[in-house]
Amino acid sequence: NSVQVNVLGLGAMGTALAEALVDAGHPTTVWNRTPGKADGLVARGATAAATAGDAVRGGRLVIACLLDHASVHEVLDPLAGEMAGSTLINLTTTSPAQARELAAWAADAGIAYLSGGIMAVPHMIGKPGSSILYSGSADVFRQYEPLLGLWGTSTYFGEDAGLASLYDLALLSGMYVMFAGFVHGAAMVAPAGVTAREFASMAAPWLSAMTGELEGYATVIDGGDYTVEGQQSLEFSDLGHILDASSEQGVSTEVIGMVQRLIRRQIDAGHGKEGFPRIIESIR
Ligand code: NDP
Repeated sequence: NSVQVNVLGLGAMGTALAEALVDAGHPTTVWNRTPGKADGLVARGATAAATAGDAVRGGRLVIACLLDHASVHEVLDPLAGEMAGSTLINLTTTSPAQARELAAWAADAGIAYLSGGIMAVPHMIGKPGSSILYSGSADVFRQYEPLLGLWGTSTYFGEDAGLASLYDLALLSGMYVMFAGFVHGAAMVAPAGVTAREFASMAAPWLSAMTGELEGYATVIDGGDYTVEGQQSLEFSDLGHILDASSEQGVSTEVIGMVQRLIRRQIDAGHGKEGFPRIIESIR
């Protein structure tokens, strides 16, 4: 079933999303604030709209992939009246609170609203590994699930429009801290003449293998009992030796020191014999 889709925003990501729609045969109208960005899509079969208003008038499904929350309001506020009865799927990155605010704005305007968090970079869209998280209207998700599937694996979290963004940002937190850990390791070995590429060839399989621990940690955290047998204790994994080695190599201890502080707070509170997942108590 082909669906008329109107895509607002042709940055790197909006272009990739629109390309997948056009290539799958959906009649696609595209708009971008700065003209010229639609040319490649038009050559592929899309229709360019001169204004955002022209784009949203072309059909009932609007996909927004703009810079941020403010730009979504800037583009859509003047069009709220005409969009009553339409569906808005917003793939612009926003905070959970901003997603909820947009959901309320859409509800006031009579627009069905689905919020998406893209867990992919543009060249991954439509390819294996691409994943998009959704929350907001269950009806919209169900109705357009086949279309959403063109971009990647779709996961729906529920009617609370903020949930997709919350998951998105929580997953990114995990990624950034892991990347910082990799960079710290690369800095440690660099004075020994090891290139970052050589280090990466060891770090990638190591970090992949260690993700196998997450499930066990999750079981302990959800169970709320950090004394479960068989865990490495906080005292044992105090990280002092890693900080010493970092200092010896002349590199900053900020990254690894942050983890040590989370551990120390629990040891100081008398929980040194308990397992590593206990550091969540230092965070929440
Ligand atoms: P780009 O910087 O490539 O594009 C930004 C787009 O927003 C452009 O089309 C720009 O138009 C438009 N824009 C910015 N401000 C306004 C405004 N005030 N009014 C109208 N249009 C505006 O960003 P991406 O395409 O990479 O990202 C788009 C969204 O997707 C972001 O929210 C980003 O966080 C999210 N995302 C991106 C990922 C990525 O890897 N690129 C990954 C996951 C999410 P103009 O051409 O006129 O400047």
